Amino acid sequence: MSVFPRSGVFKIGKCFQQYSARSIASLSSLPETHQMLQKTCRDFAEGELKPIAAKLDKEHLYPKKQIKMMGDLGLMAIDVPEELGGTGLDYLAYSIAMEEISRGCASAGVIMSVNNSLYLGPVAKFGNKEQKEKFVRPFTNGDRVGCFALSEPGNGSDAGAASTMAIKKGQEWKLDGTKSWITNGYESEASVVFATTDKSKKHKGISAFIVPKPIKGLSLGKKEDKLGIRASSTCNLIFEDCLIPEENLLGEPGMGFKIAMMTLDAGRIGIASQALGIAQASLDCAIDYASKRIAFGAPILKLQSIQQKLADMALRIESARLLTWRAAVLKDKKEPFTKAAAMAKLAASEAATFASHQCIQVLGGMGYVSDMPAERHYRDARITEIYEGTSEIQRLVIAANLAKEYGV
Ligand SMILES: Cc1cc2nc3c(=O)[nH]c(=O)nc-3n(C[C@H](O)[C@H](O)[C@H](O)COP(=O)(O)OP(=O)(O)OC[C@H]3O[C@@H](n4cnc5c(N)ncnc54)[C@H](O)[C@@H]3O)c2cc1C
Repeated sequence: MSVFPRSGVFKIGKCFQQYSARSIASLSSLPETHQMLQKTCRDFAEGELKPIAAKLDKEHLYPKKQIKMMGDLGLMAIDVPEELGGTGLDYLAYSIAMEEISRGCASAGVIMSVNNSLYLGPVAKFGNKEQKEKFVRPFTNGDRVGCFALSEPGNGSDAGAASTMAIKKGQEWKLDGTKSWITNGYESEASVVFATTDKSKKHKGISAFIVPKPIKGLSLGKKEDKLGIRASSTCNLIFEDCLIPEENLLGEPGMGFKIAMMTLDAGRIGIASQALGIAQASLDCAIDYASKRIAFGAPILKLQSIQQKLADMALRIESARLLTWRAAVLKDKKEPFTKAAAMAKLAASEAATFASHQCIQVLGGMGYVSDMPAERHYRDARITEIYEGTSEIQRLVIAANLAKEYGV
């Protein structure tokens, strides 16, 4: 297995090549550095994640050792600047790495995605110097992970309706309320938490806070028993008279909703990439099985109805990959990418659901049992259409941007 050490990834960051949106769009080839990263992540996923993904899923085991190895490879802080301990690569690199890791284990993928885009993303972008030293650097090498707490029992899609409150008490903020569905909730050692500081201003009265864990006044709910991504933890964060220092406010008071939306725009590229990994693993599994399974005297791969399924899977995956890489490139070029990220997430998550469904069909009975990975891919795929904005919300985002473009 050719996993190069973290310093090797640093070198990649330094000699990072320029690429144009056109070269990516034409898919003639990825820049050499991205190809190296892709190979490293693919080898790591094949060697370290794929062989244990079924066990992690079955036993709901958090892959602590593998997350640390991913940290050593530079995968837990891909686009964080090197001076803050990150790898200093770009979002295209992040997308490629996320796909390969998720191809091996979708749970490892979501743990990586939350740390990179939902936790480190906003702290590195909106944090001050002290906050970055304290809450970015220690979370870059896989020793610690962070989480992102926006959803609540009473609001998911309608994120602006946050009822968790933060009230200023002298030099501290007092947090009260419950955040729900928090990925990495159990293992994380810090969280970006959104709470209302001025109810009269509605979503403009929401602020963002960095909350270290553990801390007095913060308890965890039960670990959710999920359909898929079962090796990642999901739970409620319950705040009761939880006092945090005033310097843990992220950005300005009232900036929370903006921070959340900007974070989710970028996060959607990560989830699109996770979905691509699940979809690609489904296609890999289907082709391998179809080439070996004999029916009516020949491999089922020779049957046109099976070939059509494989062709449709490949078509949707490759179309979604182009959209995802395009969104990443737009972000890297500092161009607007909200619509592109929503399209990427929508297309890739639907491709993952489609491909994993078809994969089970290609495997027949063997697709339905846990001896083969097809049923896990099917369960893992489903969440990509729900978190970081459901498919319905992605369509709303796309339509709102279309209306803007058409001036209507
Ligand atoms: C495993 C898992 C991990 C998660 N991780 C995190 C995390 O780390 N941090 C975090 O903050 N949150 C997390 N979430 C929460 C997730 O982002 C929300 O579940 C999601 O945004 C949907 O919100 P909801 O569940 O409240 O559904 P609702 O908002 O109640 O939606 C229910 C249905 O109504 C539809 N709907 C709602 N509003 C509209 C509308 N305006 N137009 C059309 N349809 C609409 C939805 O699309 C959906 O089909 C996680 C969820 C899960 C299941």
